Amino acid sequence: MQNISFTYSPLGARVVFGEGSLDRLSEEFATLGGTRALVLCTPEQTALGKIVGDALGSRFAGLFPKAAMHVPLDIAREARSLASTLGVDCIVAAGGGSTIGLGKAIALESNIPIIAIPTTYAGSEMTPIYGITDGNEKRTGRDPKVLPRTVLYDPALTLSLPTPMSVTSGINAIAHCVEALYAEDRNPITSLIAEEGIRSLAQGLPKVVENSADQSARSQCLYGAWLSGMALGATSVALHHKLCHTLGGMLNLPHAETHTVVLPHALAYNAGSAPEAMARIARALNSKNPALGIYDLATQLGAPTSLRGLGVKSEDLDKVADAAMKKPYPNPRALERAAIRELLERAWLGAAPV
Ligand code: NAD
Repeated sequence: MQNISFTYSPLGARVVFGEGSLDRLSEEFATLGGTRALVLCTPEQTALGKIVGDALGSRFAGLFPKAAMHVPLDIAREARSLASTLGVDCIVAAGGGSTIGLGKAIALESNIPIIAIPTTYAGSEMTPIYGITDGNEKRTGRDPKVLPRTVLYDPALTLSLPTPMSVTSGINAIAHCVEALYAEDRNPITSLIAEEGIRSLAQGLPKVVENSADQSARSQCLYGAWLSGMALGATSVALHHKLCHTLGGMLNLPHAETHTVVLPHALAYNAGSAPEAMARIARALNSKNPALGIYDLATQLGAPTSLRGLGVKSEDLDKVADAAMKKPYPNPRALERAAIRELLERAWLGAAPV
């Protein structure tokens, strides 16, 4: 590598990683200067929300167990109003990307700091990216004030993540790393992080599928998820994320599953135009062909491989291809309507990537 030249602006979350990190919540809350916290979780994770509340003791002001996929605006408004009524000075978001996204929606308007306790591999806790959905439209943006100040990664909290969700969430994290490796604003540090993220997840996920209670495999996957969140937060996304965003927004598809199906095909599309990224991905996957390597990994782990299987209709593919062409964005290979339509066709069928 010659003529190295880049701008690197590391983002400033404090990270506490390891088994039992949840026990550090009270101490970390005090370090942040918090006095009253609103705890967020999904309805399904109310038990976790209560455990988190108990860990905060007298500084626990209330629980809002209504986080939902893609942060619906009405839920965000309700949570913001509760935070204001309770007069809290800290949000503790315990859960996946949906719960952390709700915390970000509160922080966006109030500047209240977030402590994130991730329980999936989505990586939102390490990014300044927010998204709020009004009807069928998801508004996304970047704002440093939504970046959690402290992140507690406790692999024990991921033991309950069902195996199929662990797999798709893990491949979603791999997708963040893949696009960071060919992002136009990548740098040597983000590439190191992204390559190691793919390696950790590709090695950890098969062990989780074999035994979902394998603590060291869970730790390895969560470590990979942390790296993937850092890679995503520090770089711009390209074709893969744009396609998934379009598919998710237009057709209301599940987030991680959509990423899992599309990734091998988006990778194949870009393969010839990003040789250095492909070499890193191949090394991390220990596979000669990165796109096929991801496809084979997903198949081996029992993940969904077709958009058809996610409920997409064949007649939807043209409008997805049109939408992907609408707003130009940087991508290693120029955006070609016919080739993108072909990519979507293969993803719809669940065919191997070419
Ligand atoms: P999620 O947060 O929607 O969680 C899915 C389901 O899994 C929920 O019912 C949740 O309660 C449950 N769950 C989570 N952790 C669990 C655990 N350990 N045990 C048992 N159940 C558990 O899923 P996700 O994939 O983490 O997040 C998806 C959302 O995050 C999408 O809206 C996506 O756009 C967003 N996201 C944002 C960013 C960002 O940087 N802003 C990054 C990645 C994803």
